[in-house]
Amino acid sequence: MRQLYHPVIHDASTPVESYWEATAGPPVEGWSPLAGDASCDVAIIGGGYTGLSAALHLARDHGVDVRVLEAGVPAWGASGRNGGFATRGSSKLSYQELLRRFGRDALRHFHATQVESSDLVAALAEEEGFEIDASPKGEVYVAHKPNRMAEMAAERDFQRDVLDQPSEVWSRAELAERAYAGPEAFGALYTPVGFGLHPLKYCRGLAGAAIRRGAVVHGHSKVLKWERQGSRHRLITAGGTVTAGHVIVATAGFTQEGLHPAFNGVLLPVLTNIVTTRPLTQAEREAQGWRTEMVISDSRNLLFYYRLLKDGRFMLGARGGLDASPDGAATMRRWMERRLGEMYPAWKGIETTHFWRGLTDLSADLLPHLGRLPDEPSVSYALAYHGNGVAMGTWAGRYLARDLVGRNDASGSSAPVIMSQPLRRFPMPGLRKAYLRAAYMWFEASDRFL
Ligand SMILES: Cc1cc2nc3c(=O)[nH]c(=O)nc-3n(C[C@H](O)[C@H](O)[C@H](O)COP(=O)(O)OP(=O)(O)OC[C@H]3O[C@@H](n4cnc5c(N)ncnc54)[C@H](O)[C@@H]3O)c2cc1C
Repeated sequence: MRQLYHPVIHDASTPVESYWEATAGPPVEGWSPLAGDASCDVAIIGGGYTGLSAALHLARDHGVDVRVLEAGVPAWGASGRNGGFATRGSSKLSYQELLRRFGRDALRHFHATQVESSDLVAALAEEEGFEIDASPKGEVYVAHKPNRMAEMAAERDFQRDVLDQPSEVWSRAELAERAYAGPEAFGALYTPVGFGLHPLKYCRGLAGAAIRRGAVVHGHSKVLKWERQGSRHRLITAGGTVTAGHVIVATAGFTQEGLHPAFNGVLLPVLTNIVTTRPLTQAEREAQGWRTEMVISDSRNLLFYYRLLKDGRFMLGARGGLDASPDGAATMRRWMERRLGEMYPAWKGIETTHFWRGLTDLSADLLPHLGRLPDEPSVSYALAYHGNGVAMGTWAGRYLARDLVGRNDASGSSAPVIMSQPLRRFPMPGLRKAYLRAAYMWFEASDRFL
């Protein structure tokens, strides 16, 4: 079935030339392409945070015989190349909208799950003994226009009154004192939840831990066909087959249409892009008043996300773009370099060393989704983290693992109602890119003029 974007973005044989790839250290050992016919209890499609967390928890905590099938090398997808914000935000709907639709208890449960998910990331790295280059706790949400400061204050009050979640509003001067100053930074909301990390070190750490704990991981093993064999599933790759009693779908924005009918037309993959500079000197950082390694995003609908990296480079991320071709990538890179100079004038014209992009995924109801297919309970899935799957993908993988062995109730870890709604197909899925184009036009106008 035809994918929505240029094929280059789906080509898992092409390495991602990211800053993370250049600095992650040794690759994962102990995986191999699938060769021949194998069988197992649980087969997982997708070797990112969701699939690898599910594999690690199944193998380590429950002794389940599990195999992961990944089209590229482990961590090839969004999990190896994201901005490294282990923070909240896995629904595209605001907390206010979620409160209106689902009520206070459901929202509190969802929020608590998001907080728990970033704690889980830190705990797993600690338990399994791998490095993730964590940055200081908390996330900063910057008002890109003066009139967004009212939203910051309203959000702080909402978090305090509805969620018992403390947060602080920083004036423009306080933002300059604690983080940075810039012509598109008019103050901020600081929430002490989440942190930044090296996304590829984290994903490779998960993969290594899963393998050490007994999971079998097959890279370069794209599932090309999915058949039923009585009560079992048969997944076919170019090198062999895996027969399993249960399948977990953990393919997020790289989900291949046509593999299983339940996942056709239910996701809208969207491009998100990152550029990094050369290491900035102390004097250059001071010239821009930069004084934090905390993770930061802004109040735009088409948001920018940014952070200072461990070796002094600056990372700027931007959602958006509809053209995944190499030409589209070059245009996006030029635009981001220009915007970097506008938002941080002291760094205008600074050399950038890496640019890359990838797909993340939205659902039709703008909620993250996890669970089992109602008509086929031997298929589980966790998808649609809306560009915030570092922490939530990890949590969702553990949830699916515990669900399979009937341990969620015992651990007190139930799925938030907000994440357990049935998957919905987009109306006329062939028009998904047209919907996105219209949404981007509206976002750009409202970010600029409202
Ligand atoms: C540039 C970028 C920046 C981002 N920044 C952040 C951020 O800062 N914080 C945050 O929380 N989130 C961020 N995200 C989103 C986040 O990375 C994802 O939500 C998360 O990684 C999803 O994890 P996953 O394991 O579910 O899917 P992925 O990591 O995307 O893995 C899915 C895997 O499935 C594989 N696959 C697909 N089809 C098949 C098949 N048929 N057979 C075998 N394998 C298959 C793919 O090769 C892929 O590796 C960003 C995403 C991108 C692209």
